[in-house]
Amino acid sequence: MSTPAYDAGRLALMLNELRLPTIARLWPEFAQRSDKEGWQATRLLGALLEHELAERAKRRIERHRAESHLDPTKTLATFDFSMVPMVSKAHVMALATGDAWLEKGATALLFGPPGAGKSHLGSAIGHALIDAGYRVMFTRTSELVQKLQAARQSLQLPSALAKLDRFDLIILDDLSYARKDQAETSVLFELIAERYERRSLLITANQPFSGWNDVFPDPGMTVAAIDRLVHHSTIFEMNVESYRRRTASDKQNSRRRQSSSDNQKEGATNMAE
Ligand code: ADP
Ligand code: MG
Repeated sequence: MSTPAYDAGRLALMLNELRLPTIARLWPEFAQRSDKEGWQATRLLGALLEHELAERAKRRIERHRAESHLDPTKTLATFDFSMVPMVSKAHVMALATGDAWLEKGATALLFGPPGAGKSHLGSAIGHALIDAGYRVMFTRTSELVQKLQAARQSLQLPSALAKLDRFDLIILDDLSYARKDQAETSVLFELIAERYERRSLLITANQPFSGWNDVFPDPGMTVAAIDRLVHHSTIFEMNVESYRRRTASDKQNSRRRQSSSDNQKEGATNMAE
């Protein structure tokens, strides 16, 4: 005597109630296969649960990517390490796995002139960390300073800083563009002090520390900020000419080479004539 079939409609309701959309979608097909191939009940249950977990992890990573504000095109796959020979790819790859440095709330500092690839490399590390399950936020430093300043004015700074705590890494892009004469940059110091040895920062800047006196309200605060940032840090000095300029001049050179070889070919044909 066969067991009476379970009411499929009720199953769907229960799966919905338990928020198991993947199992709800997959179970009819899996159950059919299981009946046909005579699977053990544990195999059917295990297969369905594994799919639910995998999809859940995928959705979580998609959510983290969306909240990160990272440029989707600036990844490790599109970064050409040969353009920055002084940057060790192995070192970048170690940072990209997260683990050790994020656990101790360490800092990464990327210095170099405009166009050197700082924002791209910072974003690329951010993407890799999201893939590894971490939460990352990318922001222009001046934008975050404005937000934090507004929070301070409405006496919400502590809760604004606490909200940022959910991010394992905050990428502060273009720190040296934040200017004390344009904004109350002491909130930036508070962010640095708040995250020190707990939550990581990755900072890009055109100017290394020597130019930071224009960022913070007074020299004492500049020294205190730098002191905290360098304590546990990895520094990449990307002193190369602008990638845009180099690729533009490469294109120009190859166009020139192309047209001179065309001319030579023409010359050769002319001579043969
Ligand atoms: P920076 O932040 O140092 O001013 P960006 O990261 O914005 O420079 O780089 C400028 C442009 O050049 C971007 O479009 C970036 O994707 C590209 N770029 C820079 N360096 C590289 C590189 N090593 N490989 C691939 N693209 C690069
Ligand atoms: Mg940049």
